[in-house]
Parts: sequence; C-alpha cells; structure tokens
Amino acid sequence: MVDLSTLGDGFRRLQKLQKDLDNLELNEAIVDLRSQVMEMQQENLELREANMRLKREAEEAKAADDFLDSLIDVDGYLYKRDENGKPVDYPYCAKCLKHPDGPFKMVRQNEVYSRCPNCGQKFAAAKDGRANSSWPNS
Ligand SMILES: [Zn+2]
Repeated sequence: MVDLSTLGDGFRRLQKLQKDLDNLELNEAIVDLRSQVMEMQQENLELREANMRLKREAEEAKAADDFLDSLIDVDGYLYKRDENGKPVDYPYCAKCLKHPDGPFKMVRQNEVYSRCPNCGQKFAAAKDGRANSSWPNS
C-alpha cells in the first residue's frame, strides 16, 4: 500500500526541483500528480469510513446473534436465562426481536397474558417461563 506521507515527501522534492528547473512540462506533470494524490486521499478517506461502518455493523450483528443465542425457548417464547439456565422474567416479543429499537421484553397484562410494549400484541406467556400453549378462554 502506498504511504501518503512518502508521497508528500516526493512532492516537496519535486517542488524544489520545479523551482530550480522552471520547466513547463515538469510543472504540468507535478500538477497532474498532485491532483491524482488528492483523489487517492479522498478515496482513502471514503474507504476508511466504509471500513469503520462495516466493522461497526459486524459487531452489532454479532451482539444480536450472541443475544439470541443466550435466550431459552419455552413453547416458542424466548426468555432470558438465570444462572441455572432457567427462564427468567418476561419473554421477548418474537415479532419485534429484530426491530431497530428492540428487542422488546413483554410486560405483564394479567396473571397469564403478557403484551409487547412496541406492537401491542398480546401473548399467552407469563413470567419465568410460564407459557401457555393456548388461550384459557378459547
Ligand atoms: Zn412486538
């Protein structure tokens, strides 16, 4: 990879020669080179920004995967685990699991039901893995 500071040193040498020689063709070549280097610097900056963005996205994707791997599935509801691997607290809304502002943990609606604070959907899931496979009233 080309080191931009090396190119800068090269320019300074060329500019010194330019003063000594005062050659029109040399001046044009230097101006051309300078504009090419500036273009490379811009491309370099853009690539660094793209690289940083991709790294950040990869880290976010890994964190999301790690989070999903850490959950326990009880009757299709995804709970966090306690230190013994048992489901704890309310489950996460599967529909909103990958929402940009999520994930959303369900909140208590009553003894049996819970509700997603984001989409408002009600679920037959309660705290600590007490999930019902069907609605009691149906
Ligand atoms: Zn939801």
